[in-house]
Amino acid sequence: MINLNFSSDNTDQNRTEKKIALLRQMREKLSHYREMLDFFEPIFEWRQRYADALASCPDMRITDDPAYLIRHQKGFPMLTKGDIRVESPIISDYFLKLLSIIKTQAPEKSEMIDGLIDKNGKFRFDVLIGHDFNRAPAVPDNVMIDFLIEETLGPLLDMYSRELGHHIKRSAWSDGFCPVCGKKPAFALLADDGKRILVCSTCSFEWDFKRIKCTFCGNEDQQLLAYLTVENEDMYRIETCDACHGYLKTIDLKNAAHEIVYDIEAIITLHLDIIAGNHGYFNVRQQTSAGTIDQPN
Ligand SMILES: [Zn+2]
Ligand SMILES: [Zn+2]
Repeated sequence: MINLNFSSDNTDQNRTEKKIALLRQMREKLSHYREMLDFFEPIFEWRQRYADALASCPDMRITDDPAYLIRHQKGFPMLTKGDIRVESPIISDYFLKLLSIIKTQAPEKSEMIDGLIDKNGKFRFDVLIGHDFNRAPAVPDNVMIDFLIEETLGPLLDMYSRELGHHIKRSAWSDGFCPVCGKKPAFALLADDGKRILVCSTCSFEWDFKRIKCTFCGNEDQQLLAYLTVENEDMYRIETCDACHGYLKTIDLKNAAHEIVYDIEAIITLHLDIIAGNHGYFNVRQQTSAGTIDQPN
């Protein structure tokens, strides 16, 4: 195993400490999410160590390559699997660490994933994902595998989006997939000035988006776009599209009742996914718009 105990960058370390403080605050406030938040606390700590290990490894750093800009100008995401050393042991060690946490807390959910590891304990993360960072076609469709893939790619792609994001004019990107990694948004934010901002589900890159447009299918017919509200939770709404039956969780910042940290929002808004599902809308995050188009090299 690679030693994940690298010294931390103070700023990132502080960010993690603040995140855990908020997680504990939410744990007290939202008793129905207590178990889920307890499950994530050690994951947040390991995620920071993993992010530090990635940042300290020269092989994992990305250099400014004109190819990224060319892809961006052509309307493709900047990064594909081929740009990243996905075979690095730092990455597979983190995946295995997460798997061991799941095993302790929910052993029944890890059985199938154990099958991906060979008898000698060897495991290759890179074979799990396709060029668009989604689950590779040969890998079984399983919620836990999708979680592990996203959780493993998140800190890595987040590091790259911070390095490459300055090339992107966030108001000039009009697609519903992330301009850095190609993934779908996890949330939309409604800013005080009325702007709608999308947040990438994997690398957390933020970009501006039209108010009246489905982020998944591009539909702009107002008759087919609506939103669901939740009683006593005016900071959240669920934007829906009757053209593709997709939905997007939305945070209205002017009604925010607590500090917004995306990793925590992803946990404490799971009831919104259930509400959307009960109304016949589904999560289309697993498919990327970009993934269906052949990428230039
Ligand atoms: Zn992204
Ligand atoms: Zn749609």
